[in-house]
Amino acid sequence: MLIKTLPDEIESYFVDASNYKGQCTAVYFPETIKEISDILIEANRNKTHVTVSGNGTGLTGGRVPEDGIVISTEKLNNIIEINAEEMYAVVQPGVILADFQAKVKEKNLMYPPDPTEKNCFIGGTVSTNASGEKTFKYGPTRNYVLELDIVLQDGDVLKLARGKQKADGYKLSLITESGRKIEFKLADYKMPEVKNASGYFCKGNMDAIDLFIGSEGTLGVIAKVKLKLVPLPENIISCVVFFDDELNALDFISKARDISKAANSKLNPAGIEALALEFFDDRSLKFLQDDYPQIPRNVKAGVWFEQEVTNVNEDKFFEAWMELIKEYRGDEDTAWFAFTDADKKKIQDFRHFISAKIHEYIAKNNVKNLGTDVAVPDNKFYELYFYAKKKVEEAGLEFVTYGHFGNSHVHLNMLPQNQTEYDIGTLVYNEICKAAVKLGGTVSAEHGIGKRKRDYLLDMYGEKVIQQMIEMKKVFDPNLILSRGNIFKLPDE
Ligand SMILES: Cc1cc2nc3c(=O)[nH]c(=O)nc-3n(C[C@H](O)[C@H](O)[C@H](O)COP(=O)(O)OP(=O)(O)OC[C@H]3O[C@@H](n4cnc5c(N)ncnc54)[C@H](O)[C@@H]3O)c2cc1C
Repeated sequence: MLIKTLPDEIESYFVDASNYKGQCTAVYFPETIKEISDILIEANRNKTHVTVSGNGTGLTGGRVPEDGIVISTEKLNNIIEINAEEMYAVVQPGVILADFQAKVKEKNLMYPPDPTEKNCFIGGTVSTNASGEKTFKYGPTRNYVLELDIVLQDGDVLKLARGKQKADGYKLSLITESGRKIEFKLADYKMPEVKNASGYFCKGNMDAIDLFIGSEGTLGVIAKVKLKLVPLPENIISCVVFFDDELNALDFISKARDISKAANSKLNPAGIEALALEFFDDRSLKFLQDDYPQIPRNVKAGVWFEQEVTNVNEDKFFEAWMELIKEYRGDEDTAWFAFTDADKKKIQDFRHFISAKIHEYIAKNNVKNLGTDVAVPDNKFYELYFYAKKKVEEAGLEFVTYGHFGNSHVHLNMLPQNQTEYDIGTLVYNEICKAAVKLGGTVSAEHGIGKRKRDYLLDMYGEKVIQQMIEMKKVFDPNLILSRGNIFKLPDE
């Protein structure tokens, strides 16, 4: 097994895409589950801290080590099986999402979870319960994880399959591959009923596999994943439409969301059924204007929507969307419509470009990213959105706002030019997170907590719940060696 220790060979593992920095003494590159077990047995014996790394595209410092060693999953990068008939795939954790999606597409199937950054590893997406634009229709990564093989701190392996290991109320009983019985009580806190990736998933009678999805490397190393696939849609219409009035754009999204949800529940089969509903404010559009001169000048907002269609219903759906655009005074003439794969890719690239440009900006200014990941119930979204914008404006900071508004989920990215502005921004950030929690929402809808959002999780759930989470970690990692610093501060930190 490859082990790297030279500082210039391992320093890229000291950081993630949020520009949060740490350190470690060595990076291990296991190629088999047995090698992961061997690393952990040795680390456990010596009480060496071990941080698990995916491809480092995370935005919360999750893969950044505080000290000790790193297990990189990049050599565990095989797609083991794609079963087109039964619509599932089995992969190792280091498979790149974009590669996986392409292979699945060749079989006329689709893997819906699609974070804007497709250079992430499948293991990283499972560990953060990642989401993407298609989450509006298809839900987050959690909904597609059928089985997990997890290597625990002592090298033992836990195999979990959806539906097979269910909690009895709050009591969970699991058996590892070596025959060890793990029995414990799940915490009984209530999770917000919104898109959520904040802390451990916990509820009565839950499926054990859900505890590990979104656990950010703190409970074990995910070594193999079986994923559910869905049929590839016959075609997708993709469109970016611009508005002269921000409220019209927001109302357009709310109406499209409500009709789509009714369509999903089969109450309104004749209505539109959005696949994605994304928003860009005027500041985002200006921020992109040099790179995309085709963005019309002086518009107040843009909305990107996608709709799955067939040859039979394409015209009907297209007309329904055009009517909605007219109703909310979107500009049909300047809208970008994409029907071919190449044009659809251009729109996806446009959406990715804004996130990438922000990360370039923060790295250039040598600060960390300050982008909200909050989501609230639909009926509270406007309140949160206007509150957040007002707070940042009052603080005199530059910012851009965009995101998955169909899920009432907003990325308000502050653009601090120096450390002083960054420090002011963190105070505003804190207030926005508090407001989201007060409105019944979450501090992280898709990026996870990592090391950078622990204080906000503490505000969200309170000390007692955080303590309950730590107790659950101790069940699987009694020596507290795994991905320390993620989700909560440990008692010995
Ligand atoms: C430009 C840009 C756009 C983005 N857009 C989105 C988006 O739309 N939606 C979204 O959800 N995220 C988004 N992200 C964040 C990021 O891409 C996701 O969080 C992704 O899931 C991280 O995957 P990774 O492989 O890079 O993981 P890393 O950053 O390496 O690690 C993330 C966490 O997972 C843990 N981990 C990784 N692999 C394993 C494993 N095998 N076993 C146990 N723990 C493991 C790590 O310890 C860490 O806590 C974006 C990031 C960027 C830079």
